[in-house]
Amino acid sequence: MTEYYHSIQFIEESCTGCMACMRICPTSAIRIRRGKAALVSERCIDCGLCLQVCTHKAIVPKTDAFSTLPRFSYKVAIPSSAIYGHFGSEISPICVQEGLIQLGFNEVFDISTALEYYVYSIERWLSENRSLRPVILSVCPTVVRLIQVLFPSLVEHVLPLQPPREFIAMLAKVTISERLGVKPEEISCFFIAPCSAIMISIKQPAEGSRSSLDGTIGIQDIYNHLYSKVFEISKEHTLSEPISPISGLGISFGYVGGLLRILAKERWLAVAGLSNLIRIFQEIESGRLRGVEFIECWSSPLGCCGGSLTVESSYINRSRLIDLSNRFPQRLEIDLDAAKKYYDDKISFLHGKLLPRPLKPLDTNILRAVKKMKKRDEFLKLLPKFNCGLCGCPTCSTFAEEVASGQEDKESCVFFSPNRLRKLINLYNIDFSSLSEDEEEEAF
Ligand code: SF4
Ligand code: SF4
Repeated sequence: MTEYYHSIQFIEESCTGCMACMRICPTSAIRIRRGKAALVSERCIDCGLCLQVCTHKAIVPKTDAFSTLPRFSYKVAIPSSAIYGHFGSEISPICVQEGLIQLGFNEVFDISTALEYYVYSIERWLSENRSLRPVILSVCPTVVRLIQVLFPSLVEHVLPLQPPREFIAMLAKVTISERLGVKPEEISCFFIAPCSAIMISIKQPAEGSRSSLDGTIGIQDIYNHLYSKVFEISKEHTLSEPISPISGLGISFGYVGGLLRILAKERWLAVAGLSNLIRIFQEIESGRLRGVEFIECWSSPLGCCGGSLTVESSYINRSRLIDLSNRFPQRLEIDLDAAKKYYDDKISFLHGKLLPRPLKPLDTNILRAVKKMKKRDEFLKLLPKFNCGLCGCPTCSTFAEEVASGQEDKESCVFFSPNRLRKLINLYNIDFSSLSEDEEEEAF
């Protein structure tokens, strides 16, 4: 069985078993076992919501620490557009690029150039593949995992192109190795990431290939170091040229709807936030969504500007990005022959086929599976459906499924464990004196 890599890690010693993470997880991927949170790996789509609600620092992102940077010989920073809105509207992204160099990166490559190649490839893909609609943007790793796990029938709809961050990392390595005469392996590209999920697309790309990126540094990890540099630079210099070309399109990619705003496409839709995505994917599955050609999808409600590793408020960040994007040329010129070649030679494409990753059935044997489903449904009828979580499962129906598949004992539910129920009554000092004997009997 495939071991899934995840971008989050649970710190057992810090976990209080408060259940906040279990309650928010959209795919029921967390259980509380012996008072500690535990991950059901196959269900996790790395959305990072648990990371954001845990106030005990018991869930941490698995990004690369900024302090490890000196270990690498030639370092390239690829900033997510979401970082540009972290320093006030008066601070230009040009200063942010310069700040990254002062922090120790040898070069900075912005995603704006890659986005031009990306848009060329999207338009060509849509015109050459008209049979399947809508096509779904594949940049957000959580969106791709959500489709693989909960909507496997939609895998075919996912745009099979390399995300701009991967494409620019590949371009950076080729360009630098030609310019300096070094091997591409000697160059390390780091994405300055707005969310932890990017790590899974590097360590375990959804299409099963190899990433051109070598690591990620969370915006929150680099922010304090960068902040003072960026402010010094903005006071002392009047920089007019970016280190790496920046466009309105590139900056706008940091918030939901940014791509649509610049490209002004009809029949394109922008959808963000997991509950909205789930709703729209259900509509596609049931054939209710018609007339939409392309969907820009982000797991975070406002796009990358509100990712789990950002520091600034997502609303402030987005409004600054809109403002900043208007101060740069909206589009960059690219070599169209090169764009055509990247497409024709499949360099712009994902290196492997995206496959569904559906959840395990109750049993691989169809007869046993039917029996277990029956057992699950019958047991669920007996449960109170309070979804209290005291059994360690997020809902009564998840618990019933685990009992039916033999992973849980029914006594884990307090209503099937009179001793635990009595303990709780004593613990919370619940007074049953007003109940009749029959009612008390029923309560237990
Ligand atoms: S939110 Fe989850 S990981 Fe954090 S303390 Fe509560 S149960 Fe533990
Ligand atoms: S990252 Fe998202 S899917 Fe994974 S356990 Fe946390 S909340 Fe659930």
